[in-house]
Amino acid sequence: MADTSSADYANYGFNTNAVHAGQAFEPLTGAVVPPIHLSSTYAPDGIGNLRQGYEYSRGGNPTRDALQTQLAAVERGKHAYTFGSGLAAEDAIIRGLCAPGDHIVLGNDAYGGTYRLIHRIHGKWGITQQAVDMSDLDAVGKAVTENQTKILWVETPSNPLMKISDIAALAQIAGEGGAALVVDNTFATPYLQLPLELGAHIVVHSTTKYIGGHSDAVGGAVILNDDAMAEEIAFQQFAVGGVNGPWDAYLTTRGLKTLGVRMDKHQANAAKIAEFLVQHPKVTAVQYPGLPDHPGHELAAKQMRGFGGMLSFQVAGGEAAARTVAENTSVFILAESLGGIESLLNYPSEMTHASVKGTDLAVPVDLIRLSVGIEEEEDLLADLEQALAKLG
Ligand SMILES: *Cc1c(COP(=O)(O)O)cnc(C)c1O
Repeated sequence: MADTSSADYANYGFNTNAVHAGQAFEPLTGAVVPPIHLSSTYAPDGIGNLRQGYEYSRGGNPTRDALQTQLAAVERGKHAYTFGSGLAAEDAIIRGLCAPGDHIVLGNDAYGGTYRLIHRIHGKWGITQQAVDMSDLDAVGKAVTENQTKILWVETPSNPLMKISDIAALAQIAGEGGAALVVDNTFATPYLQLPLELGAHIVVHSTTKYIGGHSDAVGGAVILNDDAMAEEIAFQQFAVGGVNGPWDAYLTTRGLKTLGVRMDKHQANAAKIAEFLVQHPKVTAVQYPGLPDHPGHELAAKQMRGFGGMLSFQVAGGEAAARTVAENTSVFILAESLGGIESLLNYPSEMTHASVKGTDLAVPVDLIRLSVGIEEEEDLLADLEQALAKLG
Protein backbone atom coordinates (compact mmCIF):
# COMPACT_ATOMS: atom_id res chain seq x y z
CA MET A 1 0.00 0.00 0.00
CA ALA A 2 2.62 2.53 -1.00
CA ASP A 3 0.90 4.16 -3.95
CA THR A 4 -1.48 7.08 -3.48
CA SER A 5 -3.55 6.53 -6.62
CA SER A 6 -7.15 5.68 -5.71
CA ALA A 7 -7.32 3.08 -8.50
CA ASP A 8 -5.14 0.79 -6.38
CA TYR A 9 -7.79 0.59 -3.69
CA ALA A 10 -10.61 -0.81 -5.81
CA ASN A 11 -9.97 -4.35 -4.58
CA TYR A 12 -10.07 -3.60 -0.87
CA GLY A 13 -13.02 -3.32 1.48
CA PHE A 14 -14.14 -0.22 3.33
CA ASN A 15 -12.16 -0.50 6.57
CA THR A 16 -8.96 -1.53 4.78
CA ASN A 17 -9.16 1.55 2.57
CA ALA A 18 -10.10 3.78 5.51
CA VAL A 19 -6.97 2.67 7.35
CA HIS A 20 -4.49 2.48 4.45
CA ALA A 21 -5.48 4.58 1.41
CA GLY A 22 -3.13 7.53 1.09
CA GLN A 23 -1.42 6.50 4.34
CA ALA A 24 1.76 4.82 3.10
CA PHE A 25 4.59 4.95 5.65
CA GLU A 26 7.14 7.73 5.32
CA PRO A 27 10.06 6.30 3.29
CA LEU A 28 12.92 8.23 4.95
CA THR A 29 12.29 7.11 8.55
CA GLY A 30 9.67 4.39 8.16
CA ALA A 31 7.23 6.41 10.31
CA VAL A 32 3.99 4.41 10.06
CA VAL A 33 1.87 7.53 10.42
CA PRO A 34 2.70 9.95 7.60
CA PRO A 35 4.01 13.26 8.97
CA ILE A 36 1.92 16.44 8.96
CA HIS A 37 3.34 18.79 6.35
CA LEU A 38 2.89 22.29 7.70
CA SER A 39 5.07 24.03 5.12
CA SER A 40 3.28 26.63 3.00
CA THR A 41 5.95 26.50 0.28
CA TYR A 42 8.33 23.99 -1.30
CA ALA A 43 11.89 24.42 -2.58
CA PRO A 44 12.24 23.21 -6.17
CA ASP A 45 15.36 21.42 -7.36
CA GLY A 46 16.32 24.45 -9.43
CA ILE A 47 13.85 26.75 -11.21
CA GLY A 48 10.82 24.87 -12.48
CA ASN A 49 11.86 21.44 -11.14
CA LEU A 50 9.23 20.73 -8.54
CA ARG A 51 9.83 17.80 -6.22
CA GLN A 52 6.79 15.48 -6.28
CA GLY A 53 4.77 18.31 -7.86
CA TYR A 54 4.55 20.46 -4.73
CA GLU A 55 5.02 24.21 -5.06
CA TYR A 56 2.72 26.09 -2.67
CA SER A 57 0.20 24.65 -0.20
CA ARG A 58 -2.96 26.29 -1.54
CA GLY A 59 -2.33 24.37 -4.75
CA GLY A 60 -1.17 21.14 -3.14
CA ASN A 61 -0.08 19.82 0.24
CA PRO A 62 0.96 16.23 1.06
CA THR A 63 -1.23 16.01 4.19
CA ARG A 64 -4.27 17.24 2.26
CA ASP A 65 -3.43 14.83 -0.57
CA ALA A 66 -3.28 11.94 1.91
CA LEU A 67 -6.82 12.78 3.08
CA GLN A 68 -8.08 13.25 -0.48
CA THR A 69 -6.74 9.84 -1.52
CA GLN A 70 -8.30 8.22 1.54
CA LEU A 71 -11.68 9.88 0.85
CA ALA A 72 -11.68 8.93 -2.84
CA ALA A 73 -10.99 5.31 -1.88
CA VAL A 74 -13.77 5.03 0.71
CA GLU A 75 -16.36 6.78 -1.49
CA ARG A 76 -15.33 4.65 -4.48
CA GLY A 77 -14.60 7.78 -6.51
CA LYS A 78 -11.74 8.76 -8.78
CA HIS A 79 -11.15 12.28 -7.48
CA ALA A 80 -11.51 13.95 -4.08
CA TYR A 81 -10.97 17.56 -3.03
CA THR A 82 -11.10 18.84 0.54
CA PHE A 83 -12.04 22.27 1.82
CA GLY A 84 -12.11 24.38 4.97
CA SER A 85 -15.76 23.49 5.66
CA GLY A 86 -18.68 21.57 4.19
CA LEU A 87 -20.13 24.84 2.92
CA ALA A 88 -16.84 25.79 1.24
CA ALA A 89 -17.00 22.40 -0.54
CA GLU A 90 -20.60 23.08 -1.58
CA ASP A 91 -19.64 26.54 -2.80
CA ALA A 92 -16.89 25.06 -5.00
CA ILE A 93 -19.44 22.73 -6.63
CA ILE A 94 -21.89 25.54 -7.34
CA ARG A 95 -19.20 27.88 -8.71
CA GLY A 96 -17.64 25.07 -10.72
CA LEU A 97 -20.85 23.86 -12.36
CA CYS A 98 -23.03 26.98 -12.61
CA ALA A 99 -22.94 30.39 -14.28
CA PRO A 100 -25.37 33.30 -13.91
CA GLY A 101 -28.80 32.30 -15.26
CA ASP A 102 -28.40 28.65 -14.26
CA HIS A 103 -30.82 26.84 -12.01
CA ILE A 104 -30.52 24.51 -9.03
CA VAL A 105 -33.21 22.15 -7.75
CA LEU A 106 -32.77 21.13 -4.13
CA GLY A 107 -34.72 19.14 -1.58
CA ASN A 108 -37.26 21.11 0.45
CA ASP A 109 -35.66 19.59 3.56
CA ALA A 110 -32.07 20.49 2.65
CA TYR A 111 -29.59 21.52 5.33
CA GLY A 112 -30.41 25.15 6.18
CA GLY A 113 -26.92 26.36 5.39
CA THR A 114 -27.09 24.80 1.91
CA TYR A 115 -30.33 26.62 1.17
CA ARG A 116 -28.87 29.87 2.53
CA LEU A 117 -25.73 29.48 0.37
CA ILE A 118 -27.70 28.84 -2.81
CA HIS A 119 -30.45 31.37 -2.12
CA ARG A 120 -28.63 34.29 -0.51
CA ILE A 121 -25.08 34.05 -1.85
CA HIS A 122 -25.44 32.57 -5.33
CA GLY A 123 -28.88 34.16 -5.78
CA LYS A 124 -27.14 37.54 -5.87
CA TRP A 125 -25.11 36.38 -8.87
CA GLY A 126 -28.13 35.29 -10.86
CA ILE A 127 -28.42 31.61 -9.94
CA THR A 128 -32.01 30.63 -9.35
CA GLN A 129 -33.31 27.78 -7.21
CA GLN A 130 -36.38 25.77 -6.46
CA ALA A 131 -36.96 23.60 -3.39
CA VAL A 132 -39.02 20.47 -4.07
CA ASP A 133 -40.02 17.30 -2.27
CA MET A 134 -37.33 14.83 -3.39
CA SER A 135 -39.62 11.84 -2.78
CA ASP A 136 -42.03 13.17 -5.44
CA LEU A 137 -40.09 12.06 -8.54
CA ASP A 138 -42.63 13.59 -10.98
CA ALA A 139 -42.26 16.99 -9.33
CA VAL A 140 -38.46 16.67 -9.39
CA GLY A 141 -38.47 15.70 -13.08
CA LYS A 142 -40.65 18.67 -13.97
CA ALA A 143 -38.57 21.13 -11.96
CA VAL A 144 -35.34 19.89 -13.58
CA THR A 145 -36.44 19.98 -17.22
CA GLU A 146 -38.58 23.13 -17.13
CA ASN A 147 -35.71 25.16 -15.73
CA GLN A 148 -32.71 23.79 -17.62
CA THR A 149 -31.31 22.89 -14.25
CA LYS A 150 -27.54 22.38 -13.81
CA ILE A 151 -27.61 20.80 -10.37
CA LEU A 152 -30.06 18.51 -8.63
CA TRP A 153 -29.10 18.57 -4.94
CA VAL A 154 -30.25 15.91 -2.49
CA GLU A 155 -29.54 14.99 1.08
CA THR A 156 -30.51 11.48 2.10
CA PRO A 157 -31.22 10.76 4.91
CA SER A 158 -32.27 14.38 5.27
CA ASN A 159 -31.80 16.71 8.17
CA PRO A 160 -33.60 16.71 10.58
CA LEU A 161 -36.63 14.71 9.36
CA MET A 162 -34.67 11.69 8.13
CA LYS A 163 -36.49 11.47 4.81
CA ILE A 164 -35.04 8.97 2.34
CA SER A 165 -34.73 9.81 -1.36
CA ASP A 166 -34.07 7.40 -4.23
CA ILE A 167 -30.53 8.17 -5.39
CA ALA A 168 -30.62 5.93 -8.49
CA ALA A 169 -33.94 7.40 -9.68
CA LEU A 170 -32.78 10.98 -9.05
CA ALA A 171 -29.51 10.30 -10.90
CA GLN A 172 -31.55 9.19 -13.91
CA ILE A 173 -33.74 12.30 -13.79
CA ALA A 174 -30.68 14.52 -13.47
CA GLY A 175 -28.88 12.74 -16.33
CA GLU A 176 -31.87 12.99 -18.67
CA GLY A 177 -32.25 16.69 -17.86
CA GLY A 178 -28.57 17.48 -18.43
CA ALA A 179 -28.01 18.18 -14.74
CA ALA A 180 -25.57 16.73 -12.22
CA LEU A 181 -26.92 14.91 -9.19
CA VAL A 182 -25.11 16.09 -6.06
CA VAL A 183 -25.63 13.91 -2.98
CA ASP A 184 -24.83 15.29 0.44
CA ASN A 185 -23.63 12.06 2.08
CA THR A 186 -22.84 13.63 5.47
CA PHE A 187 -25.54 11.75 7.42
CA ALA A 188 -25.10 8.32 5.83
CA THR A 189 -21.30 8.36 5.41
CA PRO A 190 -19.55 6.19 2.78
CA TYR A 191 -19.62 3.29 5.24
CA LEU A 192 -23.40 3.05 4.84
CA GLN A 193 -24.09 4.54 1.41
CA LEU A 194 -22.11 4.91 -1.83
CA PRO A 195 -23.95 7.46 -4.01
CA LEU A 196 -21.44 7.32 -6.90
CA GLU A 197 -22.12 3.60 -7.29
CA LEU A 198 -25.85 4.38 -7.39
CA GLY A 199 -25.29 6.80 -10.28
CA ALA A 200 -24.80 10.14 -8.52
CA HIS A 201 -22.35 12.51 -10.23
CA ILE A 202 -20.92 14.19 -7.15
CA VAL A 203 -20.75 13.43 -3.42
CA VAL A 204 -20.31 16.24 -0.94
CA HIS A 205 -19.50 15.98 2.77
CA SER A 206 -19.24 18.07 5.81
CA THR A 207 -16.26 16.09 7.15
CA THR A 208 -16.85 18.05 10.37
CA LYS A 209 -19.42 15.40 11.20
CA TYR A 210 -18.99 11.59 11.05
CA ILE A 211 -15.86 11.49 8.91
CA GLY A 212 -13.82 13.60 11.34
CA GLY A 213 -15.96 12.02 14.03
CA HIS A 214 -14.53 13.69 17.14
CA SER A 215 -16.03 17.20 16.95
CA ASP A 216 -12.57 18.74 16.74
CA ALA A 217 -12.08 19.75 13.10
CA VAL A 218 -14.24 21.64 10.58
CA GLY A 219 -13.93 20.55 6.95
CA GLY A 220 -15.62 19.57 3.73
CA ALA A 221 -15.03 17.31 0.74
CA VAL A 222 -16.14 16.79 -2.86
CA ILE A 223 -15.74 13.31 -4.41
CA LEU A 224 -16.51 12.46 -8.04
CA ASN A 225 -15.58 10.34 -11.05
CA ASP A 226 -16.06 12.68 -14.01
CA ASP A 227 -12.68 14.07 -15.13
CA ALA A 228 -14.02 17.31 -16.65
CA MET A 229 -16.11 18.17 -13.60
CA ALA A 230 -13.16 17.24 -11.38
CA GLU A 231 -11.01 19.74 -13.22
CA GLU A 232 -13.57 22.46 -12.45
CA ILE A 233 -13.59 21.58 -8.75
CA ALA A 234 -9.79 21.39 -8.61
CA PHE A 235 -9.62 24.83 -10.19
CA GLN A 236 -12.06 26.25 -7.63
CA GLN A 237 -10.00 24.76 -4.81
CA PHE A 238 -6.83 26.32 -6.18
CA ALA A 239 -8.14 29.65 -7.52
CA VAL A 240 -10.69 30.51 -4.81
CA GLY A 241 -8.59 28.89 -2.09
CA GLY A 242 -11.16 27.57 0.39
CA VAL A 243 -8.72 24.84 1.42
CA ASN A 244 -8.39 23.08 4.77
CA GLY A 245 -5.10 23.43 6.61
CA PRO A 246 -2.72 20.48 7.13
CA TRP A 247 -3.55 20.09 10.81
CA ASP A 248 -7.29 19.80 10.14
CA ALA A 249 -6.59 17.48 7.21
CA TYR A 250 -4.58 15.24 9.55
CA LEU A 251 -7.31 15.17 12.22
CA THR A 252 -9.86 14.31 9.55
CA THR A 253 -7.68 11.49 8.22
CA ARG A 254 -7.21 10.17 11.75
CA GLY A 255 -10.97 10.22 12.30
CA LEU A 256 -11.79 8.56 8.98
CA LYS A 257 -9.62 5.55 9.86
CA THR A 258 -12.14 4.50 12.54
CA LEU A 259 -15.36 5.55 10.77
CA GLY A 260 -16.56 1.99 10.21
CA VAL A 261 -16.19 0.82 13.81
CA ARG A 262 -17.71 4.04 15.10
CA MET A 263 -20.72 3.79 12.77
CA ASP A 264 -21.46 0.26 13.96
CA LYS A 265 -21.79 1.52 17.53
CA HIS A 266 -23.60 4.78 16.56
CA GLN A 267 -26.30 2.88 14.75
CA ALA A 268 -26.65 0.08 17.29
CA ASN A 269 -27.29 2.75 19.96
CA ALA A 270 -29.62 4.74 17.67
CA ALA A 271 -31.74 1.66 16.90
CA LYS A 272 -32.22 0.97 20.63
CA ILE A 273 -33.12 4.59 21.31
CA ALA A 274 -35.62 4.64 18.43
CA GLU A 275 -37.33 1.54 19.88
CA PHE A 276 -37.44 3.16 23.32
CA LEU A 277 -38.90 6.43 22.01
CA VAL A 278 -41.57 4.73 19.90
CA GLN A 279 -43.17 3.19 22.98
CA HIS A 280 -42.81 6.28 25.21
CA PRO A 281 -46.19 7.90 26.08
CA LYS A 282 -44.86 11.48 25.74
CA VAL A 283 -43.40 10.89 22.27
CA THR A 284 -45.79 11.51 19.36
CA ALA A 285 -43.51 10.62 16.43
CA VAL A 286 -40.08 9.11 15.82
CA GLN A 287 -38.17 9.59 12.58
CA TYR A 288 -35.57 6.84 12.14
CA PRO A 289 -35.21 4.97 8.83
CA GLY A 290 -34.51 1.74 10.70
CA LEU A 291 -38.08 1.63 12.02
CA PRO A 292 -40.23 -0.67 9.85
CA ASP A 293 -43.04 1.93 9.58
CA HIS A 294 -40.73 4.79 8.54
CA PRO A 295 -41.91 5.83 5.04
CA GLY A 296 -38.36 5.47 3.66
CA HIS A 297 -37.54 2.20 5.42
CA GLU A 298 -37.59 -0.10 2.39
CA LEU A 299 -35.70 2.32 0.19
CA ALA A 300 -33.11 2.87 2.93
CA ALA A 301 -32.71 -0.89 3.33
CA LYS A 302 -32.09 -1.11 -0.41
CA GLN A 303 -29.63 1.75 -0.94
CA MET A 304 -27.92 1.85 2.46
CA ARG A 305 -25.92 -0.72 4.41
CA GLY A 306 -27.39 0.39 7.73
CA PHE A 307 -29.66 3.10 9.10
CA GLY A 308 -27.14 5.39 10.75
CA GLY A 309 -26.86 7.20 14.05
CA MET A 310 -29.20 10.15 13.53
CA LEU A 311 -32.84 10.31 14.53
CA SER A 312 -35.44 12.87 15.47
CA PHE A 313 -38.62 12.75 17.49
CA GLN A 314 -41.57 14.91 18.46
CA VAL A 315 -43.07 15.29 21.91
CA ALA A 316 -46.58 15.92 23.21
CA GLY A 317 -46.93 19.48 24.50
CA GLY A 318 -45.42 21.38 21.57
CA GLU A 319 -42.56 23.85 21.76
CA ALA A 320 -42.52 24.18 25.56
CA ALA A 321 -42.27 20.42 26.05
CA ALA A 322 -39.53 20.08 23.44
CA ARG A 323 -37.53 22.85 25.12
CA THR A 324 -37.93 21.14 28.52
CA VAL A 325 -36.56 17.84 27.22
CA ALA A 326 -33.77 19.59 25.29
CA GLU A 327 -32.59 21.47 28.38
CA ASN A 328 -32.69 18.57 30.80
CA THR A 329 -30.38 15.85 29.54
CA SER A 330 -27.01 15.23 31.13
CA VAL A 331 -25.21 12.70 28.91
CA PHE A 332 -26.64 14.17 25.68
CA ILE A 333 -25.05 17.60 25.24
CA LEU A 334 -27.29 20.38 23.94
CA ALA A 335 -25.32 21.55 20.91
CA GLU A 336 -25.41 22.00 17.15
CA SER A 337 -23.50 19.68 14.85
CA LEU A 338 -23.53 15.88 14.78
CA GLY A 339 -21.53 12.80 14.00
CA GLY A 340 -19.05 12.94 16.88
CA ILE A 341 -18.43 10.18 19.40
CA GLU A 342 -20.38 12.11 22.04
CA SER A 343 -24.19 12.18 21.95
CA LEU A 344 -25.64 15.56 21.03
CA LEU A 345 -29.17 16.87 21.28
CA ASN A 346 -30.33 19.71 19.05
CA TYR A 347 -33.51 21.76 18.97
CA PRO A 348 -33.56 22.40 15.19
CA SER A 349 -36.21 25.10 15.07
CA GLU A 350 -34.02 27.53 17.06
CA MET A 351 -30.57 26.03 16.43
CA THR A 352 -29.47 24.26 13.23
CA HIS A 353 -32.53 25.34 11.26
CA ALA A 354 -32.97 28.88 12.59
CA SER A 355 -31.92 30.22 9.18
CA VAL A 356 -34.99 28.65 7.50
CA LYS A 357 -37.54 29.70 10.13
CA GLY A 358 -40.63 31.11 8.45
CA THR A 359 -39.72 29.66 5.02
CA ASP A 360 -41.01 26.53 3.26
CA LEU A 361 -38.05 24.69 4.80
CA ALA A 362 -39.03 25.43 8.42
CA VAL A 363 -39.08 22.45 10.80
CA PRO A 364 -41.72 21.53 13.45
CA VAL A 365 -41.36 23.36 16.80
CA ASP A 366 -41.94 20.16 18.82
CA LEU A 367 -39.03 18.38 17.11
CA ILE A 368 -35.82 17.23 18.79
CA ARG A 369 -32.87 15.81 16.85
CA LEU A 370 -30.40 13.36 18.33
CA SER A 371 -26.92 12.57 17.12
CA VAL A 372 -26.42 9.32 18.98
CA GLY A 373 -22.86 8.84 20.17
CA ILE A 374 -20.86 5.75 21.09
CA GLU A 375 -21.47 5.85 24.86
CA GLU A 376 -23.11 2.94 26.71
CA GLU A 377 -26.63 2.29 25.51
CA GLU A 378 -28.09 2.03 29.06
CA ASP A 379 -26.71 5.44 30.01
CA LEU A 380 -28.21 7.09 26.93
CA LEU A 381 -31.61 5.46 27.49
CA ALA A 382 -31.65 6.43 31.17
CA ASP A 383 -30.75 10.01 30.27
CA LEU A 384 -33.64 10.35 27.82
CA GLU A 385 -35.99 8.62 30.26
CA GLN A 386 -35.29 11.15 33.02
CA ALA A 387 -35.52 14.14 30.64
CA LEU A 388 -38.89 12.96 29.31
CA ALA A 389 -40.06 12.38 32.90
CA LYS A 390 -39.80 16.17 33.37
CA LEU A 391 -42.91 16.43 31.20
CA GLY A 392 -44.87 14.95 34.13
C1 LIG B 1 -22.96 20.51 8.76
C2 LIG B 1 -23.55 20.17 7.44
C3 LIG B 1 -23.20 20.88 6.29
C4 LIG B 1 -22.27 22.08 6.33
O1 LIG B 1 -20.97 21.73 6.70
P1 LIG B 1 -19.96 22.67 7.52
O2 LIG B 1 -18.78 21.81 7.72
O3 LIG B 1 -20.66 23.07 8.78
O4 LIG B 1 -19.72 23.86 6.66
C5 LIG B 1 -23.75 20.46 5.10
N1 LIG B 1 -24.61 19.43 5.02
C6 LIG B 1 -24.98 18.74 6.12
C7 LIG B 1 -25.94 17.60 5.98
C8 LIG B 1 -24.48 19.09 7.36
O5 LIG B 1 -24.87 18.41 8.45
